[in-house]
Amino acid sequence: MSKLLEKIATYIIDRKLRDLRHKLSELDSEKTRRILKKVNANIIDKIIKYKFYKTLKHCSVDSPFYKKKLTNLMRELNYKNCLSILETLPFTYPEDVSRSPSSFLTVPLTDIAAFHFTAGTTGKRKLLYVTREDLDLIAYNYSLGFLWNGINRNDIAQIMYSFDIWQLGLLVQDAFRRIGVKTIPAGNSITLREQQNFIEEYNVNVLAGTPSYIYQLARAIDLKNSAKEHVKAIMLGGEGLSKTRRNYIQNRLGGEVFLGYGLMEIGGGVASECSMHNGMHISTTTIPEIVDIKTGEPVGLEEHGELVLTSLDRYGMPFIRYRTRDVTRFIEGDCDCGLKLPRIDYIKGRLDDRVTIGTAEKYYPIVFEELFEQITEIIDFQIEITNLDGRDNLKILVKADKPSKDVERKIIEKIYSISGLRNDIEKTGTINPLQIVFTDELEKSPKRKIIIDKRLVD
Ligand SMILES: [Zn+2]
Repeated sequence: MSKLLEKIATYIIDRKLRDLRHKLSELDSEKTRRILKKVNANIIDKIIKYKFYKTLKHCSVDSPFYKKKLTNLMRELNYKNCLSILETLPFTYPEDVSRSPSSFLTVPLTDIAAFHFTAGTTGKRKLLYVTREDLDLIAYNYSLGFLWNGINRNDIAQIMYSFDIWQLGLLVQDAFRRIGVKTIPAGNSITLREQQNFIEEYNVNVLAGTPSYIYQLARAIDLKNSAKEHVKAIMLGGEGLSKTRRNYIQNRLGGEVFLGYGLMEIGGGVASECSMHNGMHISTTTIPEIVDIKTGEPVGLEEHGELVLTSLDRYGMPFIRYRTRDVTRFIEGDCDCGLKLPRIDYIKGRLDDRVTIGTAEKYYPIVFEELFEQITEIIDFQIEITNLDGRDNLKILVKADKPSKDVERKIIEKIYSISGLRNDIEKTGTINPLQIVFTDELEKSPKRKIIIDKRLVD
């Protein structure tokens, strides 16, 4: 192909991708597949360069955080050579965003359409500014994954993500709506039995939620055969998923499991699985890098490291080289599904020590530490999490001055002050009633371990 033709093709494809975002309601799976299959590696490279240059320009003028770092660099940069400086740019850390979210704001506050918050439960949820364009981007990112995996306007989806401050439920609902999928906003705070009733009564054929919540659902309910046969897809995200759990969910609920990976900071869904189920494709709305956790240097071919993302279409709050704290690797070679978008492997782990208990809320050990420190009688403690009868079981091992019913009562009170946990014990039943054991012997390890998660063994 001649240079000119190539340029025209790139332009057309990029425009088509932008059209996809604005005309989601007119699309179906077939059309989407046809367009996406035309996007080859060469075109992806051009789209990325074009968008990266635009992002750098935008940040160098409008972002208080990036302005200083970029102003001088921009003089020598153009659309063609911009990618060469990527690895020389400093990283952005989650702490930078927690500390001062407004320093990443690139538009006047009046242009902000919504505030979003990340899922953290340490009291350090990150505030994210979102414009109308960003809302479109988020919906587009999720919709693309849905459409690519055969979900259409004829489908009815039950959304079992949280609809509260971590509003993944709302974002996924918006994406479904834009492609004409009917939704049941069930959330994750009703009983699992009620979830079953919705699925059976309203002919639901697409389920969406976090892997741990859907796993709890699979353990707890027995879908009628007709309902199980009707379920065609189970769209999971927000956490990792073991093979055992994936198979279990598919066997118990019917349908094919598709796992996605996303980050609210970058624009929701960043990568999604295809029908080959061998890693997740990354959309052209970010530049992915994988770096050595300690040195920050790029890792070798197919080696594991920390995923670093640069947002390309995030308008009100763009991020350059954002350290996700998630560990994964690139998968080389073409995918048999026909999509040329690069693939990352499933997330191997999170650098932060957060654990998911009950209905997919993520808890940091420090939350418990801070609460338990307020009970003066407690010398030390550990929380052992196991899976018992399909529910999370919290055994709280306590070393105390004078063990008593009073100390026990204080512990329950403290844990119940975390509303998500209380809700999961009392309402959703995804966590067993607390088990408190006084002991003088706590498990020893080189570093203090507050949470011992024994569920990972499956
Ligand atoms: Zn694929």
